[in-house]
This record gives sequence, structure tokens and C-alpha cells, in this order.
Amino acid sequence: MTWKDFVYQQIIQHCNSTGSRTFSLQEFLKEKLATFQSFRPDNKHVEAKIRQQLQFLRDDNLISFIDNTGNYTLRGIDLLDVEKEETASIDLTKEVPEKREYLIETYVRKVKWAKQAIDLLGSNCLFHNCNNIFLREDGTPYIEVHHIILLCRGGEDRIWNLSVLCAHHHRMAHFADVKTQIAIEKFLLKEVTVRM
Ligand SMILES: [Zn+2]
Ligand SMILES: [Zn+2]
Repeated sequence: MTWKDFVYQQIIQHCNSTGSRTFSLQEFLKEKLATFQSFRPDNKHVEAKIRQQLQFLRDDNLISFIDNTGNYTLRGIDLLDVEKEETASIDLTKEVPEKREYLIETYVRKVKWAKQAIDLLGSNCLFHNCNNIFLREDGTPYIEVHHIILLCRGGEDRIWNLSVLCAHHHRMAHFADVKTQIAIEKFLLKEVTVRM
């Protein structure tokens, strides 16, 4: 196996263990350095090698930088375990990144950030005075969790990047014209900051 494939495989394992597509290089290295050292015991510059592979993975759009402090988001089509179960019935490989992200957000609801977002932000759509909410069979409100800055554009899979929207406004946030999308993003960022 090449260094690049090995590093990518270890990133997926790391994200699976934390249950998040966002990871910090520091934590990743702390957990995996020994693994990489035993992968190529003759290599004396393992850390530099890993940083170089991360660069290659960025060039391939499999991961992206969130900020300048060593935080990354996994962007590849490889799903985390929690995502696999719930998306088994749809073929995500044919979708463009934006559509794929919408489908994953809509079908995968068990991740801890998503639960926290609903606890914190409630189950009403955050869009301007929206009352477009219906109840499920069990009486709980139907709401969708949305990444304000999309993961496929480098947004973080963390609580401060999450919002809650009704199905209609969630689609708008992903598929409206760019001007509308940017307006929704700005509005949600402000709205969520006030509530947190
Ligand atoms: Zn979304
Ligand atoms: Zn709404």
C-alpha cells in the first residue's frame, strides 16, 4: 500500500472513532504516530511524510483545510460507519458533492453533533419566521440538520456550524441560486450565534 492510501485509510479510521468528519492534525498524529512508524520502520521523518501526504490528499479533494490551525474535514465519498447504515439504499457515488452532502445530512441523523444541534436550537426551522413544521407519527417535530458552511466547501462538522431547517428551506440552502444560498448562509450564521 502507498503512503497516501495508508494515510487516507488511517484518517477514515480516526474519523470513525470520533464520529466526526472534522479532525485536527495534532490529535490525529498523537493517536497514529506509532502506527505510521511501524508502517515504514526505516523512515526517520514520519511526521514530515504524513504532512506531505495530507497535501496530496488535499490536491485530490479528499480532505480540505478548515482553517490555518491544522483542522481538516474529510471530503471524500467514503462514508463513516454511522453514515453507511442509513445511506445504504441510495447510490451516493453518482451525485455531485453538494447533492451528496444534502442526502447525507438528510438521511444520517445519529451523529452526536446533530442531536446536540436540535437540543440547543430547538425543532423549529431557523429561517425567517418559518412555521413550516409537521409532526411525525410518534408526535415529534420533523426537522433537518444543516451545515451552515457546507462540508464540501470546507465547513466544519462541529456544533457551531450546524443549524436546523424545515425540509423546504433545507433544499433552498443547498439548491437555490448562489445569491440566495449566500444570503441564507449569512442569515443562519447570525441566527445561530445569537442562540448559542
Ligand atoms: Zn444541509
Ligand atoms: Zn423553513
